[in-house]
Amino acid sequence: MKRAKTEELKTFFESLSDKYDLRVPVKLHDGTRVLGSLSEGEFAIEGGKIPQKPTSVFFPQFDEMFVVTDGDVAMAKPPAKPIMVVGMTAEDLDCLEFIDKFFAENFRDNIYYNKRDGSVVVGVSGRCGKDGEFMKIAGGKCDIELISDGECFIVHPYTDKGEGLVEKLQADECGCGGVHMEALRKESDALPKEDEETVDKASELIRQGKVTDEFWDEIATRCIACTSCNLACPTCTCFEVYDRERDGKMVRQRIWDSCQLDGFMREASGHNPSGKQLQRTRRRIHHKLAADVERWGHRTCMLCGRCDEVCPTEIGIKSVCREIVKRFS
Ligand code: SF4
Ligand code: SF4
Repeated sequence: MKRAKTEELKTFFESLSDKYDLRVPVKLHDGTRVLGSLSEGEFAIEGGKIPQKPTSVFFPQFDEMFVVTDGDVAMAKPPAKPIMVVGMTAEDLDCLEFIDKFFAENFRDNIYYNKRDGSVVVGVSGRCGKDGEFMKIAGGKCDIELISDGECFIVHPYTDKGEGLVEKLQADECGCGGVHMEALRKESDALPKEDEETVDKASELIRQGKVTDEFWDEIATRCIACTSCNLACPTCTCFEVYDRERDGKMVRQRIWDSCQLDGFMREASGHNPSGKQLQRTRRRIHHKLAADVERWGHRTCMLCGRCDEVCPTEIGIKSVCREIVKRFS
């Protein structure tokens, strides 16, 4: 396997920007790390997960569905160039795997798959987290994984597409006979699993009906309905639909929705099945840890940590799960 320095990776991605719509981690002038093009900021592959919802690359906040002109409907077309997204963590890749499944279940969502088909996904892991923290190795679920050993990145392709691209990377072969990778895998396997255990235990308690409405009411009084948790969550897939007029044409767009808003489930009759904050807060957690377990066979919180980081009142999913386990075990 090849072992590349950060600068070599930057040159490699730059060389692919003609062929791909490149979204790499870049640092903006205010220090924020986002997924963008190399012309938008300094290449910033190190530093941990990107704060923004990484699945927004394929499921953006605003997305055009179709345009109607004089009664003729033109569906949204695939992007001019396939998307290449770089910098997804192991947890982000779990989230992407889920929303791939979500948008293909029963009805294949072409608006999503227009962007996802033909795309290239590059994961990042190892000793390149925030402040050098070790990030779990995904071991798949992407075309290429960049695994940092603290100095360089071991470049691990997992698909034919990934292999074809890595052949073009100008970097030395690692030459260690797999010793480096073995050591990094062991380090990854030894990462603490407390969050996983806590969230799984909370999921079990919720499904057993042990978590009371009084608890949800108490948590709900702290929610200010800012919607940040939904906007940051890579597995939140709810959207609403708007029709707008543009240059004499009707444009239908979909826009992310939030289950924390009063109007989320309000019906045309005025009836609102989630009219109280208690119901909305309970739903946010129950959906990912109980309803989805029944529907998909697994929870749909992949422990990325974003909702805990953005919630101004500290009721992200991990915080709430810790409280559930403490009170109801
Ligand atoms: S930690 Fe929060 S933001 Fe991340 S997947 Fe779970 S619910 Fe979504
Ligand atoms: S981020 Fe926190 S306060 Fe904001 S809507 Fe979500 S739970 Fe409520």
